Amino acid sequence: MDLLDTLTAKGLRRELPTREEAMAVLATTDDELLDVVAAAGRVRRQWFGRRVKLNYLVNLKSGLCPEDCNYCSQRLGSKAEILKYTWLKPEQAAEAAAAGLAGGAKRVCLVASGRGPTDRDIDRVASTIAAIKDANEAVEVCACLGLLSDNQAERLKAAGADAYNHNLNTSEATYGDITTTHTYADRVDTVAKAHGAGLSACSGLIAGMGESDADLVDVVFALREIGSDSVPVNFLIPFEGTPLAKEWNLTPQRCLRILAMVRFVCPDVEVRIAGGREVHLRSMQPLGLHIANSIFLGDYLTSEGQAGQADLDMIADAGFEVEGAGEPTLPRHRSEVTAGGGCGPSGGGCGSGAEAGADAGPEAAHGCGTGGGCGPCGGHAPAVPAQAGTPATPANDEPQPDLVRVRRRGAGTELAPNA
Ligand code: SF4
Repeated sequence: MDLLDTLTAKGLRRELPTREEAMAVLATTDDELLDVVAAAGRVRRQWFGRRVKLNYLVNLKSGLCPEDCNYCSQRLGSKAEILKYTWLKPEQAAEAAAAGLAGGAKRVCLVASGRGPTDRDIDRVASTIAAIKDANEAVEVCACLGLLSDNQAERLKAAGADAYNHNLNTSEATYGDITTTHTYADRVDTVAKAHGAGLSACSGLIAGMGESDADLVDVVFALREIGSDSVPVNFLIPFEGTPLAKEWNLTPQRCLRILAMVRFVCPDVEVRIAGGREVHLRSMQPLGLHIANSIFLGDYLTSEGQAGQADLDMIADAGFEVEGAGEPTLPRHRSEVTAGGGCGPSGGGCGSGAEAGADAGPEAAHGCGTGGGCGPCGGHAPAVPAQAGTPATPANDEPQPDLVRVRRRGAGTELAPNA
């Protein structure tokens, strides 16, 4: 297929595809799907081998957000029966993080709901980073705290944060349809602040909110342009009690095409399958590993993922290996650019010759995504463990509360975390 040969060749050269080529990936048929996965897999192996980076979410502060992000279970007016609690103490957060690190994670994502941190919140997070790094110096810490004010990114960097997550989530053209309390430009500004302070930028999207193919392509091109080093791809987990509770419009095949499009546009960037992995990819999750090089281990911010051991077994069974703490995630050319302050067009990273360069998921809206909130990257959306008997494609127009398992363990509870 000429399209896939072209995209593979461009991906191996870190060259930006055209918008038309990216759109064409999303329009491929089910008969072509394995060819699409194989082509994206060649690009993935070129830059990331068979390594899978594991990230672990710690929800520092859950629910009660004054913002109105439609996809988020922690939003203003959310009726979702999620855990609600205020800031974890540093030792509580460090204990939760330790479970993820023991399970094989190399990055801890510290997420807090809310519009953005106060300076006192930055102090709290600084103490938390210190507690985590005191116990494990090699761990990468990514903060996901919402919109940043001046000098807050610098303070996080000085406290030892390695990265900052803030997702663009969707295209600029449709951003106003999902959130009214802040703007797309606000989000771009925070990513720029993080980048400018020398933090690695983590910024991704949420698919499945009713957007068009053009919207998806637009946001992924924008993520490349702003120089995101890691791109969490969240698949909306329609949380009952949120405005998008009825948006069940993703299939495993659609999710794989979206991941492949992201890989072709951002070939040498960490592409992370974030919130909604279990819910929407279901038994196709291992195919996703051939495209993405990063996932969340265990639970998300407000929803539960499949058992951490199931994640590890899936990686091994599919012939991949967990990336070790001492191994760099990004290819050397990108790490060097990142160290120097980013990879956007000015940084020169993502894409030779390319003019363009790259917050919690469906949970995590600021963040890495996952389902509905600020966090991962995996955000706030509840992830549903794969289960026998899960419908192949739920009906489009009815809530599916049985597919959304609200987190009831780990941070903010008395129960052991899932890692
Ligand atoms: S995504 Fe973040 S800012 Fe938006 S409602 Fe959820 S917690 Fe608040």
